[in-house]
Amino acid sequence: MNRVGTIAILMIFCVASLNVETKVIVNNTSPTFDFKDALFKNHTLSIWIESINKETGNVIVNGLDTRCPSIPFTWDWGDGCIDEGFFPKRHTYVDTTKNYILKVTSHYVDGSTDEAELLVRFVPPKIDFKLLPRNISVIVPNYKVSLKSRIPGYGAPKLTYFDDSFFSIINRTVVEYVLSVASQIQMDFANDNVYLINGSFIQYLLRDVSFRGGYSLWYTEPVAFVMGDYMMRDSIPWSSLFHEMGHDITLNSPADYIYGGKIDGYANAIFSESMAQIFQHATAYEIINNAEKYGLSEDLVFEIKQSAISSIIRVKNSYEHYINSGMKFSSWNDPRTIEDETFDTFMTIAYKFFEHAEKADLGYRMPLKRMMVLLQTFCEKDKERYSRHRNSPEAEAFRATLMVAALSFAFEKDLREEFRKLNFPISDEIYEELINRAKITCNVSIDKPSNYLYILNRGVIKLPDNRTIIIGKITIKIDAKSNIGIDKVEIYVDDELKETLTEKPYKWLWSEGIFGKHTIKAIAYDFADNIAVDSREIWIFNVG
Ligand SMILES: [Zn+2]
Repeated sequence: MNRVGTIAILMIFCVASLNVETKVIVNNTSPTFDFKDALFKNHTLSIWIESINKETGNVIVNGLDTRCPSIPFTWDWGDGCIDEGFFPKRHTYVDTTKNYILKVTSHYVDGSTDEAELLVRFVPPKIDFKLLPRNISVIVPNYKVSLKSRIPGYGAPKLTYFDDSFFSIINRTVVEYVLSVASQIQMDFANDNVYLINGSFIQYLLRDVSFRGGYSLWYTEPVAFVMGDYMMRDSIPWSSLFHEMGHDITLNSPADYIYGGKIDGYANAIFSESMAQIFQHATAYEIINNAEKYGLSEDLVFEIKQSAISSIIRVKNSYEHYINSGMKFSSWNDPRTIEDETFDTFMTIAYKFFEHAEKADLGYRMPLKRMMVLLQTFCEKDKERYSRHRNSPEAEAFRATLMVAALSFAFEKDLREEFRKLNFPISDEIYEELINRAKITCNVSIDKPSNYLYILNRGVIKLPDNRTIIIGKITIKIDAKSNIGIDKVEIYVDDELKETLTEKPYKWLWSEGIFGKHTIKAIAYDFADNIAVDSREIWIFNVG
């Protein structure tokens, strides 16, 4: 939820598998997890832990199946024991030095079944910590942090911090690490086009003792997000945390014309809540499918999965509610009413993102990066049309069309008809304008060497006629840009690949012994498979 304006609530929490045969998947990773099961199947069984004794290994698990089956449930406790019975059920784990995944199966008289799983945790997760970029990390402080507002009129609340009692199961360092992974993933979703403070986007997780939810402080310095004790007391609410972080990122984007402060108020949710929902579940999707890369243990990934499944089911339920209650599109949360009229509308936008991503088997990352490319064309004229202080049919049409154009661009599919059937007031004129201005551009240039005489890696004299003479070794520097992000830069000498760079700054020390006239070439590839090339003829004299 977004603290500013009227803000409502947050959300939070399902699963499946993919067939990857000959199809090339972006990133070369075959997803092993997706949200298909949660989004497209109906489950009636849910289970939870009633009590757990970590010394004796005794657990009591309760549950509910709204189909009320008369056949006993099957309990696969994960320790080799399988038995049958109704709720609640007791079990004793002999070995309490590890964690277990309990699977309960319902059996119905028609022969069908349902399943639910939960983690029985006796020991903390084991993490193989990887080095992450510090400038986009999350800090969970055990000390007071004072915030100041970056935006006039937006107050920075006085907050405290989560003391160690909140981290008895999963320690602070692990929470910080997972959230920092999430932050890195979200920054990539936003194409690195986010407002930075001193070159960094460091977020603090702070505590608002009595608040019954979470909110984002996207406008403070440092940037923060907040949870109430209620949220953090029993377990780490991963999906909710990713949600608030999603607000922080999306409201601080695009870097030179941030949404925050321009769309808040009664009309904020169609942008801010839709995007926070999409970001939170796309983040969970990426973390779960890249668990090994980030060194995350199975139990921790299971918890993140369960958290995201619960919250995505709420998105699905709201979408179904939108359909079943007459498809009342609303981008304006009327201050005179108690209910939030926008709730089902923004959940429908998020649901449609997940539905299209799952049906296209594209993963969540590339569609979201594309969606952000369109949204990041936001400009002053759009701010006027979004009309955050006043509602009108025109404003509703602009807000609806902005989101539908962004989804259409994300999936390279015109979704106007689909959303018109959902009563979204789409303007063709605005749609065309927005789609036409969203372009993915990729550029590369060889910054060094340029037209100089270089001696021992230093440019000493500027040369006429764009000539380049190099004596000794030289560091080749490449500038590559794409509004969807650069995947890699290749450096060639006379068409022979010398180096592949995936991280900024793109530079390479050319130190081999070589004489005469040669051609340096740089090829940049962006995440949308666009290619840009630059080359330069040079004279080099290097004894190596
Ligand atoms: Zn929110």
